[in-house]
Amino acid sequence: MRKKSKMGSMMVTTIFLAIIGGVVYLYNSAMFEREKPVITIENDGYWNLRAPLKINIDDASGLLEYKVTLYSGDESFVLADERFATPAENQKLELKTPKRAYALKSKEVRVEITATDASKWNFFTGNGAKKEVTLQIDKRRPYLSTIASSYRIIKGGTAVVVFKAEDTNMESFYVETNFGKKFIAQPFYKEGYYVTLIAWPVTEPTFRATIVATDSAGNVAKSLVPVIPYNKKYKVSKIKLSDRFLNGKVSELAYAYGVDDSAGIIERFKYVNEEMRHDNEEVIHDLTSKVSDSMVRSLPIKKMYPLKNAQVVAQFGDHRIYYYQGEEVSEAYHLGLDLASNAMSPIKSQNPATVVYGQENGIYGNMLALYHGLGLYTIYGHCSTQLVKEGDSVRSNEVIAKTGRSGYAMGDHLHFGVLVQGIEVRPQEWMDQDWIRKSITGPMREARKLINQR
Ligand SMILES: [Zn+2]
Repeated sequence: MRKKSKMGSMMVTTIFLAIIGGVVYLYNSAMFEREKPVITIENDGYWNLRAPLKINIDDASGLLEYKVTLYSGDESFVLADERFATPAENQKLELKTPKRAYALKSKEVRVEITATDASKWNFFTGNGAKKEVTLQIDKRRPYLSTIASSYRIIKGGTAVVVFKAEDTNMESFYVETNFGKKFIAQPFYKEGYYVTLIAWPVTEPTFRATIVATDSAGNVAKSLVPVIPYNKKYKVSKIKLSDRFLNGKVSELAYAYGVDDSAGIIERFKYVNEEMRHDNEEVIHDLTSKVSDSMVRSLPIKKMYPLKNAQVVAQFGDHRIYYYQGEEVSEAYHLGLDLASNAMSPIKSQNPATVVYGQENGIYGNMLALYHGLGLYTIYGHCSTQLVKEGDSVRSNEVIAKTGRSGYAMGDHLHFGVLVQGIEVRPQEWMDQDWIRKSITGPMREARKLINQR
């Protein structure tokens, strides 16, 4: 008897433990997960009723259904209502309102989002979530107007634009080009006004720039920058590669940067002229893309002549096409101005600046980069010695380095580059006081005058 009863109680205990185990298992299994769907709405407090409502619904066990309803006074609009046969993945919704909702006159609307997941929890009904947001209705586009700009922009060159941009809930604005570059503007002179230098890369056949402003309600304003593009022709040179050249500095550089002996001379050349150039230019583009956000009233810049009594040995924008044994093997654009004087000549900056780079940069050898403000940078390649270092402030007419032949340079010279927000531009323009006054400082002075009259 006693034994039997012990057996019985053991069985009861086992069954009990099995049930507990089963409950614990179900409690922890994905099938019975108890996490509610997470609903987020990207619209940031404002909406124009036309831009898509961006809603994300996430859940670990998948979604069973969701519904999005728009309420305004007594009216309501179902924007989405979906039920899934099998658990659905996370939803990234971009919902548009029906046309008749565009005409709503109310100052605000309420958006209600409900979702249920595919969990078997809650007696197989799943976990439900609900989110309500109130959005202020703003149908007015940001205000945009150009105050002043350069009269024209030369292919490969620079221009300036000053504009006014205003909106109570401005989200972003910039100057966008037909080739996808976005120039960031800096506050100018008085609140609501902005300035940016814009540039036409020598490799782009056409130029068009548009100011684009977007508010947090989704309203977009666009305004074309009234600058006339002038299509300048650049030199195209065919260069025959000699074995002597290929076995000289080119191979030296290729070996120094890890190309092994087994590579042929053309492979080594292509490595230096294409891969290394690309990587080194990327370093330059990254470090010259930044713009400060402090308010400026002018760009106090004097004409640049980094090397005194220098000869131009290679022009900006030269398109070089390389041939070997009668066949085209590679090409490149020369994106600076090569200046030569005596070996190890002093290089001066005529303008105050901050040193933003002072290191070895592949084909550019020992390279310095200076920042002059308003997204304007200068670079100095192939130096033998650098006399300033990263973080230093440079005074006007300070000697910053000595010319040399480090990197991809056949003789002692300076590779002088000017960049605007990461784009190489014609140094000749910045070496011409007349051009600076007419194209850059003049329009900025004109803009200050017009702003004062408002
Ligand atoms: Zn050069």
